[in-house]
Amino acid sequence: MTYRSGRHFLQLPGPTQVPGRVFRAMNRAVIDHRGPEFGRMTLGLFEGLKWVFGDPAHVFIFPSSASGCWEAALVNTLSPGDRVLLFENGFFAAKWGSFARALGLEVEVMAGDWRRPVDPARIAARLAEDTEREIQAVLVVHNETSTGVTSDIAALRAALDAHDHPALLMVDAVSSLAAAPYRQAEWGVDVTVSGSQKGLMLPPGLGFCAVSEKALDRHRAGATSPRAASPRAYFDWTEMSRDNEGGYFPYTPPTTLLYGLEASLAMLREEGADATFARHARLAEATRRAVAGWGLRNYCQDPKAVSSAGTTVLVGEGEDAEAFRLAALDRFDMSLGTGLGPLKGKVFRIGHLGDLNELMLMGALAGVEMGLKTSGIAHEPGGLSAAADFLASA
Ligand code: PLP
Repeated sequence: MTYRSGRHFLQLPGPTQVPGRVFRAMNRAVIDHRGPEFGRMTLGLFEGLKWVFGDPAHVFIFPSSASGCWEAALVNTLSPGDRVLLFENGFFAAKWGSFARALGLEVEVMAGDWRRPVDPARIAARLAEDTEREIQAVLVVHNETSTGVTSDIAALRAALDAHDHPALLMVDAVSSLAAAPYRQAEWGVDVTVSGSQKGLMLPPGLGFCAVSEKALDRHRAGATSPRAASPRAYFDWTEMSRDNEGGYFPYTPPTTLLYGLEASLAMLREEGADATFARHARLAEATRRAVAGWGLRNYCQDPKAVSSAGTTVLVGEGEDAEAFRLAALDRFDMSLGTGLGPLKGKVFRIGHLGDLNELMLMGALAGVEMGLKTSGIAHEPGGLSAAADFLASA
């Protein structure tokens, strides 16, 4: 290995670049996770997370990647054999469905167009047919990171309410949280799943389940439902909620990641939610202008559903997006997102979320343009200047 000067451009739609302030916050001695200082810190984190998720009843923090919280969401609220309706419009939606199947749930897949968002009307029509109320939960991904398509959760809620169906609404906000507006209470979401390594600007390693009172009620066997009977141990919410009341965990938490979370929540508060979302939207628009300027196509086909977190770019027929990605890495020390599942080789993904500003984005877009040149992907020369014009005027 030789030393490469300058910094690596980690231009994925997660994990994202971890800011120095977060790393410095993490570089502290581990303290007793059953002591008062730890409890005080964690209680503050729960409050900060509630703010980020949009006022859920509680946010569980698990030492896991976000996928662990897909599992936690399901096993804590459902019983084996329960029917769930999954809208499948991308790689991560499909994977959540495969988790649900492995956990013994009856997964009804509603196949969607991967280039478009969740269709609330189709989901509502299916719920209207479900007169026996067999569907226990509806599962959707807010921002499909594989395709760069964002769905309208408020519209989905309105469609569900029109049929007064009691199914839980579960949303994967893994790559939308802190990059695009998210309002759990207002949108009536029962469980939101997320992770640390994207908009929250932390290293990978924390998963979150933000839950409504209704989801907690299902978990505990409340007035309206039997107790969720799926087997669970590590991800059980019961013991976790009891210990969380004092700011503690039923097992050893990743203390240094929690220090980092404290710093990232402070940074998000200092910037202000509206400014954070406006910054992401602006950088995303600049990226799309660059893509159009290169004469390449955005994978997302619905202009209202373009993602603030990442843009998935199609290369031409017969061209190899993987060879391009490797060239960008090798030659310019930049990691771009790979095509996932059936999109392997056909697309590359530009991440534009987390700790990013205009010049950092322009550096990344310059890397893309130079990578396109060196790897022989057919394109036009105007992408970089289109992005620069937009950012200079916006
Ligand atoms: N859901 C979405 C939308 C994602 O983008 C990802 C990861 O990129 C996941 C779930 C899985 O998260 P993790 O890799 O942290 O388990």
